Amino acid sequence: EYDLAALVDSVIVDQRNSFIARGIRFTRVGGPLTVVTDEKWLRFILTQVVSNALKYTASGGRITATISDNSQEATLTLADTGIGIPADELHRVFEKGFTGTNGRNANQRATGLGLYLADRLSQKLGHKLTLTSQVGQGTQVTVHFPHLSFYGEKGTTLTKPQV
Ligand code: ATP
Repeated sequence: EYDLAALVDSVIVDQRNSFIARGIRFTRVGGPLTVVTDEKWLRFILTQVVSNALKYTASGGRITATISDNSQEATLTLADTGIGIPADELHRVFEKGFTGTNGRNANQRATGLGLYLADRLSQKLGHKLTLTSQVGQGTQVTVHFPHLSFYGEKGTTLTKPQV
């Protein structure tokens, strides 16, 4: 069991130097919220998503983490105010080895493995990744935690890991 809010915050703290160097601010909305997951792998997934958000967002931008919970699932959305992904590339971002226009412009040696691995790991953990984006506005990546079991305590949501 891990508090999603504490986990997100610690992923951000780990990358604080990049936030400072790139002039990007972080805000979290919602939480605490307990989920059952594999902390190490969820940390890897979030690190990957946050490092993309940092890479593709200009100075003065913002990354927002929103934690919410309804009767079906808990969600964590990481939204950036960056350059966004062209509509015709959106359906390919989880492909193994896919590097988009943004990726190629940023780094000729981009591997295109970041989101592929994050997506595969999410599936293994019993979570799910979705991504939306608007060019010139920003990108939103959501980790979904389906409710497999409920516990009485308020604000506590448990999902069963399937590693
Ligand atoms: P690497 O994993 O080596 O950093 P990459 O960044 O190209 O390579 P992914 O993380 O899989 O690989 O991302 C795939 C593509 O999706 C990127 O090349 C980029 O074009 C686009 N992308 C991913 N995240 C964002 C984002 N937050 N904003 C804009 N574009 C993004």
